[in-house]
Amino acid sequence: MPPTPKIPGLIKGLGVTLKTMLRPAVTTQYPHVKEAPPTRARGVIALKAENCTVCMLCGRSCPDWCIYIEGHKEKAPPRRPGGKPRTVNAIDRFDIDYALCMYCGICVEVCPFDALFWSPEFEYSEVKIADLLHDQHRLGEWMETVPEPPPLETGAQAKKK
Ligand code: SF4
Ligand code: SF4
Repeated sequence: MPPTPKIPGLIKGLGVTLKTMLRPAVTTQYPHVKEAPPTRARGVIALKAENCTVCMLCGRSCPDWCIYIEGHKEKAPPRRPGGKPRTVNAIDRFDIDYALCMYCGICVEVCPFDALFWSPEFEYSEVKIADLLHDQHRLGEWMETVPEPPPLETGAQAKKK
């Protein structure tokens, strides 16, 4: 008795294609559907300029040298009545070049004054690569998208302001 003829490979392959086409997509159909990234996602870095003391630590720690900071000293009133006037640093320029940044997070980690935060926002692609340089104003705008920190664990003490 002759062996039963096998389904030719082409028809079999088309069957697999058809079956796959009819299955619902497992990927998010961006940009028609926007996926909500996890709250701790490293999307973009936000700057809280009022906390920044222009200590330069983030700029010196950045492995890509993509943080550009300039500042000047200015007089500030004494902390207490009768105290000496103080000299404080003020920001002139704070830029991050996202064309160079590798999203390592070192700058956010090393900042001793809580001036840098991760935001999960990721929609800031540009046609011109030069536009990926975000200045102080733009970095400040990202603060609105920074999620609230998680609640403290039982027994933990809040950081003194
Ligand atoms: S995330 Fe890393 S590479 Fe990007 S600016 Fe911060 S330190 Fe530099
Ligand atoms: S480490 Fe923090 S305080 Fe110091 S320059 Fe960077 S952002 Fe400002």
